[in-house]
Amino acid sequence: MCQSCQPGLPLSFETVEEAGIVAAATAAHGRGEAWHFHVLAPNCTFNPRPGGYTFLLELTDAGRALCAFYPDKPTAVNKQLLPLLHGADALAAKPPGAGLEAEDEALLAAIEAAARAGSAWHHHMMFPACGLNPSGKWRLFVEIDGKAPATRDYDSEPSLVLNRIERLYFGLS
Ligand SMILES: [Zn+2]
Ligand SMILES: [Zn+2]
Repeated sequence: MCQSCQPGLPLSFETVEEAGIVAAATAAHGRGEAWHFHVLAPNCTFNPRPGGYTFLLELTDAGRALCAFYPDKPTAVNKQLLPLLHGADALAAKPPGAGLEAEDEALLAAIEAAARAGSAWHHHMMFPACGLNPSGKWRLFVEIDGKAPATRDYDSEPSLVLNRIERLYFGLS
């Protein structure tokens, strides 16, 4: 079945507290193991507890997935772990436009329009090993309230477009 048509998390997970999520991510990072995370919004396709926020940490080398649950957007833990995953300049302002394909610009325009209209939206950067991602590629998956999810697949990490999306997500541009 198409994962994007099937609500809920398509993998088994352990439940932990916020401190446990950060500790597990930094420990895996320190050991050089593959890991990544997702913030699952209250209305996210993949959220195992719709209505609140789920922070999903995938320890793909260790074959484990951890979830912590939050009533509000877990911005602090998100901003703490984002630079470990995508580099110290993950949220830095970069020159606009360069290196983006037309489809990337269209995706950014759709997100900017949703943000201006006050529509809820969020995104997922899915690594090739991601348990939510059947493509084997780097996948950007964007959910905007009232629209079908938008998917873009890449052969390498789409750092530039991800940077633009993260800055919109955190209200930095
Ligand atoms: Zn989602
Ligand atoms: Zn994942």
